[in-house]
Amino acid sequence: MVQSSVLGFPRMGVLRDLKKANEAYWADKLSREDLLKEGKRLRLAHWNIQKDAGVDIIPSNDFAYYDHVLDHIQMFNAIPERYSKAGLEPIDEYFAMGRGHQKDGIDVPSLEMVKWFDSNYHYVKPTFQDGQSFKLASDPKPVREFKEAKEAGITTRPVILGPVSFLALGKADRGQTVSPIGLLDKLLPVYEELLSQLKEAGAETVQIDEPVLVFDLPLKVKNAFKPAYEKLSGSNSKIPKLMLATYFGDIVHNFDVIPSISSLHGLHIDLVRNPEQLESVMGQLGAQQVLSCGVVDGRNIWKTNFKKAIEVVETAVQKLGKDRVLVATSSSLLHTPHTLDSEKKLPEEVKNWFSFACQKAKEVAIIAKAVTDGPASVRDDLEANAKAMEARASSERTNDPKVKDRQQKVTSEMHERQSPFPERYAQQKEHLNLPMFPTTTIGSFPQTSQIRVQRNKFTKGEITAEEYEKFIESEIQEVVKIQDELDLDVYVHGEPERNDMVQYFGERLEGYVFTTHAWVQSYGSRCVRPPIIVGDISRPAPMTVKESKYAASIAKKPMKGMLTGPITCLRWSFPRDDVHQSVQAQQLALALRDEVVDLEAAGIYVIQVDEPALREGLPLRSGRERENYLSWAVDSFKLSTAGVKDSTQIHSHFCYSEFQDFFHAIAALDADVLSIENSKSDAKLLKVFVDQAYPRHIGPGVYDIHSPRVPSEQEIKDRIDEMLQYLKPDQLWINPDCGLKTRQWKETKAALTNMVNAAKFYREKH
Ligand code: GLN
Ligand code: ZN
Repeated sequence: MVQSSVLGFPRMGVLRDLKKANEAYWADKLSREDLLKEGKRLRLAHWNIQKDAGVDIIPSNDFAYYDHVLDHIQMFNAIPERYSKAGLEPIDEYFAMGRGHQKDGIDVPSLEMVKWFDSNYHYVKPTFQDGQSFKLASDPKPVREFKEAKEAGITTRPVILGPVSFLALGKADRGQTVSPIGLLDKLLPVYEELLSQLKEAGAETVQIDEPVLVFDLPLKVKNAFKPAYEKLSGSNSKIPKLMLATYFGDIVHNFDVIPSISSLHGLHIDLVRNPEQLESVMGQLGAQQVLSCGVVDGRNIWKTNFKKAIEVVETAVQKLGKDRVLVATSSSLLHTPHTLDSEKKLPEEVKNWFSFACQKAKEVAIIAKAVTDGPASVRDDLEANAKAMEARASSERTNDPKVKDRQQKVTSEMHERQSPFPERYAQQKEHLNLPMFPTTTIGSFPQTSQIRVQRNKFTKGEITAEEYEKFIESEIQEVVKIQDELDLDVYVHGEPERNDMVQYFGERLEGYVFTTHAWVQSYGSRCVRPPIIVGDISRPAPMTVKESKYAASIAKKPMKGMLTGPITCLRWSFPRDDVHQSVQAQQLALALRDEVVDLEAAGIYVIQVDEPALREGLPLRSGRERENYLSWAVDSFKLSTAGVKDSTQIHSHFCYSEFQDFFHAIAALDADVLSIENSKSDAKLLKVFVDQAYPRHIGPGVYDIHSPRVPSEQEIKDRIDEMLQYLKPDQLWINPDCGLKTRQWKETKAALTNMVNAAKFYREKH
């Protein structure tokens, strides 16, 4: 029979229960005991949901209070001494590594946290020392949770992160020179021990994740697989069967090192992202090996197309037989919201197209049954699914002929500004009357609690649109006045009307829907609720013109209009899965192009189009796929911005400085001014702008906006000095790293005063 399986389940619970419990615990409002109890309750609830859905293979150890990679760091005792020496309770030591600890005379910052592959989930980076050793914790978490499930009557398949990925995703600690992958020999005995304890507890099979197999791997990492897995399995009867799981990409390019080892029980591959890898992977499987087919999307909210998924699984069954095929989610469901049942406000039509984690668990079970017992056994489900697919494909919501028509008419000229930069800049300089070292900010000013209160009142209907508008105007007046006092050169309106830089635009565009409970974990207790693109996108009316125009009318210096770019709107939403992302990006670009042109017509001559998500959209492997992405991503930015006159200045913003891998794309955006993060990075990163003879203007952030700390004027001058080693004086803008919405006014004013004074100092000097 074909079994169904889930690779991992979201941890938060129906109402973000885990977030609430964690935060209550951190605030000393919940006892340690009660926090641990809540974790136990959630794990049990999630196992039961999957059991009731009919899932055959249910994961355990997919739960984590903060992050599953952090679980491994603690379990293997890869805990830097600054944490271990603090003598904290295990759960507090764990949170100290995840989020820092500043209490009872202990003051340690967190370990570094970075994006998990190309998702918006963040994991804690394993951080190794010279002379690093490992030791398995007593009563290791995977064993404990396996037993916990077993006691509840559910035999699970524990999930652990494999040794090669664990090391390859880590780094040497600050000041250390150790090569993480070089630690493999020391780490393997700990894995052996863990696996044998799992077997002893009764685990027959273990899911061992090696997601780094989708990357182009350095040789050292690549070569680590064979010896590692030869050691971990094979003839060793003390070790459970291993299901090696990969996701978010294809693994064909690494097949030479995926041990053809008879010892591996099976292989899981992502057939949503890379369906074409099926044939080659099947061709490589050993005679007994099982193939787990990831056909239910773990990264998105769409109902699975049963017909297509069944076809894929049937293809595998024909070649391998029913006992060697599993139906699975493409990845962990960690990246999907908990349940569709919580959504009471979605239009019924649209709701019927979606499937969240609880629904996806049912989907894998239905697909497996259809393949095992024949379609007749699940006829109703298949029919309902086919109807939903058909309804979505033909819905007026998804298809807007006017949008398609407009896309047809897009020309290559529409992507180009009228003149090259030097001519544009000459006009902008005169038009905007900017000094050397112009100062500006990135868009948002502090989102005070007063702003949030008024927005809530407005959403709830407690104040009228008119009252709200008045309030927003008064906020804009205030920030304009403050910018007058600070003597900044290019003003912003402060974005008080925006809840979120993507949601705000989504709410004003046709083609989007919003949920009330569809939260997904971003890091630790932080969750995001991405808007969903369901159909062709268009802009029924201007989105930001009113606020910007008002702001410009009361400002004595140029007012910068502020928009979120097409790629960021796309990446920070759940995109459609029925048309290519490039098509959605182009639709967003056309909508934004209209906005840009309208802003210009309203007297806004500096317009910033933020694209912080451009880099995270980069396909995981370099090569053709990456170039392809960059080409349509760049085109969509250019299409959205190129409709203006030469005298209008286009800015863009990125929250990072690492452009080495795709500098050609950044240059190709042809933005007149780029503001980028730089205060926490090395100014050396700016060298790429020199090496590549980048001709346009750049504002590398002169101070960190993530901390309330006020940088002194001297510190900022030192930063500028460093920047001037790389950039020409007439190329340099002076601005903070990013928007100021999470800051308080007090430190914001102080920091900006120092920033403006530093800029003036250089202006005098040059
Ligand atoms: N304009 C946005 C702001 O200032 C940019 C935010 C971002 O880069 N993430 O808030
Ligand atoms: Zn930013």
